Amino acid sequence: MLSIYIHIPFCLKKCPYCNFNSYAFDSIKIPDLEKKYTETVINEFNIRINALNLQNETVATIYFGGGTPSIFSAHSLGQIITAIKTKLNFASDIEITLEANPATITTLQQLAALKSIGLTRISLGVQSFLNDKLKFLGRLHSVQDARVAFELLRTSGFSNLNLDLIFGYASEKVEDLEYELRELLALMPEHVSIYGLSIEKGSAFFAQAQANRIFTCSEETYAELYRTIQIFLAETFCQYEISNFAQPNYESRHNLNYWNGENYLGLGAGAHSYLSVPAQHSATVGATSPDHPTTTTPKFARRFANVSLPSKYMAQFSQISEFFSSTNLAFEETLTLEQQQMEFTFLSLRKASGLNLQKYQKLFGKKSFENLQQKVRPLIDQAYLALSNDHLQIPPQRFIIADSIVEKLVA
Ligand code: SF4
Repeated sequence: MLSIYIHIPFCLKKCPYCNFNSYAFDSIKIPDLEKKYTETVINEFNIRINALNLQNETVATIYFGGGTPSIFSAHSLGQIITAIKTKLNFASDIEITLEANPATITTLQQLAALKSIGLTRISLGVQSFLNDKLKFLGRLHSVQDARVAFELLRTSGFSNLNLDLIFGYASEKVEDLEYELRELLALMPEHVSIYGLSIEKGSAFFAQAQANRIFTCSEETYAELYRTIQIFLAETFCQYEISNFAQPNYESRHNLNYWNGENYLGLGAGAHSYLSVPAQHSATVGATSPDHPTTTTPKFARRFANVSLPSKYMAQFSQISEFFSSTNLAFEETLTLEQQQMEFTFLSLRKASGLNLQKYQKLFGKKSFENLQQKVRPLIDQAYLALSNDHLQIPPQRFIIADSIVEKLVA
């Protein structure tokens, strides 16, 4: 099974906290950019599936992320879905998600067109239920816009909706967040993603933070806010990952595939891909691990990324070509077995279901498994980790310090 991520790197405006690969884009000034970019993504898809031998794969999930992919028309997004469907099988229960900015969801007609191309899930970037906070975050939409967008989506028959929220800004009070969570619960989305505000290099906030402007709250307040979120959402949602909550059977299958170390192909400017295949396809990788027993299924894992700049990306993939080489890539690496162990540990422990110990032993061998067991024991004694049904888990009340727990395991 394969997941496909499509990066649409254009936004109506660049938000000051954002360091994603996204660019403010004016469709009036550059009317043919959408058409050209869509054609390029389709070209890239055709090149990659041949070069990477993916013709027999079945697609489990497709995710349009960004940027703001909802600024593209249903026609363009539909062309990409059709191009994929022409070459690859779709799973019968395929999940196709579109990230949407509330400012771009405006009419029932638009949503009917989006539904008709096969989208099954919409992730709405609400970010806050307070207009002052939205203003601080530099968002173009108001709380009312977000409510209208949500209602339009429901009226159009979208029954799998995610809402994104941000918390942890400098003067945030617990009561304010409680108010926002009550507003969110009143809408009853199927899924909620809540991320702490972080000031990343490359964002406008980062530059201002260098001049001592403070944007984020203290660690103590952050912990209190995070705990508030967990308590408020616990009755309706299951927290299945550090930042993600879902009603039963509405977990994001696309994101779960990332955390489960499944294959994904990234298309578009700056998109990342991760592909692992049995080691016999690449005899040199995996053979270097001294503790790798013959009973396991060694994997060769490769990660690569496209160039970030849309103009450069479009120049590279503007023609259909059988030619494929690493010179097309911004970044490429073959993961060592140790790196794979680290990733498996880090990604598995993000999930509430935790790390499957049997799978770990099968993938990485007995000696690695014994090493892990040694490191795990004191952490279980200190209640940083718990063991349940052969799965190693970070208890939800410790999610807030998940990074430092994982560090102890992979050191
Ligand atoms: S936060 Fe989202 S909408 Fe804002 S600039 Fe970044 S990608 Fe675009």
